[in-house]
Amino acid sequence: MDPVPLLDLKAQFVPLREEINRAVNEIVEAQAFILGQPVQLLEEEVARFVGSTQAVGCASGTDALILALAALGVGPGDEVLTSPFSFFSSASCAYKVGARPAFADIDPRTFNLDPEKVDAAIGPRTRALLPVHLFGQCADMDAFREIGSRRNLPVVEDAAQALSATYRSAAGGAARHAGAVGEAGCYSFFPSKNLGGFGDGGMVVTSDADLAERLRLLRVHGGQQMYHHRWVGWNSRLDALQAAVLRVKLPHVDGWIEERRANADRYRRLFAEAGLEGTVGLPQAVAGRGHTFNQYVVRVPKRDALRAFLAERGIGVAVYYPLPLHLQPCFTYLGYHQGDFPVSEHASREVLALPVFPELTQDEQHEVVNAIAEFYSA
Ligand SMILES: *Cc1c(COP(=O)(O)O)cnc(C)c1O
Repeated sequence: MDPVPLLDLKAQFVPLREEINRAVNEIVEAQAFILGQPVQLLEEEVARFVGSTQAVGCASGTDALILALAALGVGPGDEVLTSPFSFFSSASCAYKVGARPAFADIDPRTFNLDPEKVDAAIGPRTRALLPVHLFGQCADMDAFREIGSRRNLPVVEDAAQALSATYRSAAGGAARHAGAVGEAGCYSFFPSKNLGGFGDGGMVVTSDADLAERLRLLRVHGGQQMYHHRWVGWNSRLDALQAAVLRVKLPHVDGWIEERRANADRYRRLFAEAGLEGTVGLPQAVAGRGHTFNQYVVRVPKRDALRAFLAERGIGVAVYYPLPLHLQPCFTYLGYHQGDFPVSEHASREVLALPVFPELTQDEQHEVVNAIAEFYSA
């Protein structure tokens, strides 16, 4: 059996090699590395792609979240409500602007924040809601927008895993893109994301021109004119080199997502054929939400033994995420305890991400499912 990687970035790069090398070479020859035209063009292209009017490139998805909160005026004394079942940055961004992360539990079917629990967790210090579109499926944005407007709280979307995911409101109208529904949406261009650069990168989108202006200042030390600072900002620019690579890749993103969806459909068929439907909990796609399957995450019994079994066979798997954020040692001071968010805690013991990248072959998918069947038949 050949190894099956969790992700194969080379397979994505090879067909684009010449175009990317040409784009990179242009930047190298120009020796113009900071912001500039490639970044501006990428910002316009991403804004158009997701249906926002403004986009501001920055150094990472983490910084996108930090900048978005800062630009909204979130700071000391404030709380930001987010999911305990997410990547660290969904909560650390609040800490980094001097606020407190606060949590509510998730919906067991989607792994996304449960709006009713969010509503109940809002307190006098809550200043922003930060739903995460986990694994590439949109959170219940109708509910978060309703809560946000009723409670007068901005909604910042952590769309790091969800560029190209879509959301159809129950109220009708055209589907909208993840990140373009709330007051601000944050993307990551980390290499493993739906649109991955050759290093770190991120972007905030918004349709609020004033907010975008503050974001543009905050990413360059808080001043429009060099050496004159209105605020204390950050050094968080997107590199021209990254923008050049990302501009080549952006037109391919929807095609890659289609392939991820086809792989997800095939897994569903293969697990059914293997008689594993009752054993392996497959991802649940909610009607009206275009899942991007940035991760294909199943729930399985004896997770850690299965994980070791697959790793031994050279099958790349991962656990997103093994320790919920409210139980992280750095957040002990927040005062949360084991048992506070049982749905998240339970998920963290059961989840396993399987390979789902666009170039994954049918044979490789068979291999993954056969190995899982072998484990549970033993
Ligand atoms: C990747 C990720 C981030 C952070 O993005 P970076 O570019 O790695 O800083 C934030 N939130 C979620 C949900 C992510 O998956």
